Amino acid sequence: MSVRVRFAPSPTGYLHIGAARSALFNWLYAKKTGGKFLLRIEDTDLQRSTDESTRSIIDGLEWLGLSYDEELVFQSANADKHRAAANKLVAEGKAYRDFTPKAERNDATVKQGIADRARAHAAEGVDHRSNPFRDLAGEESDKRAAAGEPFAVRLKIASDGKTHFDDMVYGPQEREYSEIEDLVLLRSDGHPLYNLSVVIDDIEMGITHVIRGQDHLTNTHKQILLYQALGARLPHFAHLPLILAPNKGKLSKRKHGEVVSLTTYRDRGFVPAAFRNFLALLGWSPAEGKEVLSVDELIAEFSLEHIHRSPAVFNFQENDPRHWTDEKALWMNAEYIRTMPVDDLLPMIKAELRANKLWREEYDEDDHDWFVSAVQVIRQRFHTLKDFSAQGRAYFSDDFDFDEAAVNKNLRKEPKLKELLPGLADHLEKLDPFNHDTAEAALRGFAEESGVKAGLLINGSRTMLTGQAVGPSMFEVFAILGQKRSVERLRSGVPWFDAMNAVGDV
Ligand code: GLU
Repeated sequence: MSVRVRFAPSPTGYLHIGAARSALFNWLYAKKTGGKFLLRIEDTDLQRSTDESTRSIIDGLEWLGLSYDEELVFQSANADKHRAAANKLVAEGKAYRDFTPKAERNDATVKQGIADRARAHAAEGVDHRSNPFRDLAGEESDKRAAAGEPFAVRLKIASDGKTHFDDMVYGPQEREYSEIEDLVLLRSDGHPLYNLSVVIDDIEMGITHVIRGQDHLTNTHKQILLYQALGARLPHFAHLPLILAPNKGKLSKRKHGEVVSLTTYRDRGFVPAAFRNFLALLGWSPAEGKEVLSVDELIAEFSLEHIHRSPAVFNFQENDPRHWTDEKALWMNAEYIRTMPVDDLLPMIKAELRANKLWREEYDEDDHDWFVSAVQVIRQRFHTLKDFSAQGRAYFSDDFDFDEAAVNKNLRKEPKLKELLPGLADHLEKLDPFNHDTAEAALRGFAEESGVKAGLLINGSRTMLTGQAVGPSMFEVFAILGQKRSVERLRSGVPWFDAMNAVGDV
């Protein structure tokens, strides 16, 4: 039977990176096995589901390149089918109507998602099978329903026995029936609840493998009971390890804010393929231990067997804006920026420059070769696409900022550069041709003649020409900026040094 997997997010807020990782693993598994990857929006919580959130899920998947097969399914559209299935189970005596008035219903037994509470009840000896309506005669139940008395529908779970399944990641799992309450399938307003909807939809969509977060393990036992009551074939289950915050706590939207949202990475200049690669390594590693993998390599290497059982940790530093994301994610992004085919990178840089009013149409026309060579040189040290418009601004505009630390280190401490840099400009101005090698020879010659180290001129020039303390080889920078801009910028420091003197900074 060919593999059919699905990603089934609830559209309540932005796309969490843990959910994006589930989507990716499902997608990789489908690609690997030649199966289908389906998308189902679980929008049955009408109060919390929003169109905006659905949009951000779809956009997020598109950004990661995870295209889905077949038509998008909205779970709310299937509510009638969910109700019909519950009613059929009632008719077959596998579920029952619970007429307990709402006020008397213990909230804890209504909320299906909170499994721990159910377990706590089991430990306290609460008898899950004590519901007086469990064994109400069918006729009596039908009569009360026909009379308009409100009721919830619950699955009738046997008193003794246990569910078991072999999780493809976590191995054999079992749970005593006594730990599982008679789960609510339909609320008294007729609203189908999560476990029912998910099972009916998974059956309907022909899902063969349910791959989702480990936080759903408890639900899986309940869902298995439903599959059995419905006489349906069980899918395979594979649960994915959680992604935790650096302090090993839960990585939550509420606590960690935008760090947890996939769109943050798009908006802060991640290359989608790099983030996809990074996400793939959160809880899985290829047999060879290689880290930078193309999408084809990810597909070829992916296997559920190599998913880890221990949680993955997302290593950002809370409250430290310099470390707003995981170090490895940033390293991965830098690797992609540095090594990916330049033709794939150019459109992303174009978008970034355009958004910052730094794009010139000439870069696509007469200055295209220049643009490509500038990108080739400056991409070596950048971590995000944002760096092209921030640290890289001096390559695309004369209006750029000076990094304070760079000014302190390379200019402020070296007042003699006030004369030396314009002196260097005079030498560079005479060069013909002006290129990496001639600029290097001129700078080294001038350093010797002036009795200073070449490094002094190199560092001073770098800060004067780019505003930064670090960057590509200075001679490449001269060559990219060209003779005119290099000379002008070296000279432009004079009033600047004077101003520093005037305020007594030097
Ligand atoms: N809608 C559920 C969630 O967002 C996932 C359901 C599932 O994958 O079975 O957590």
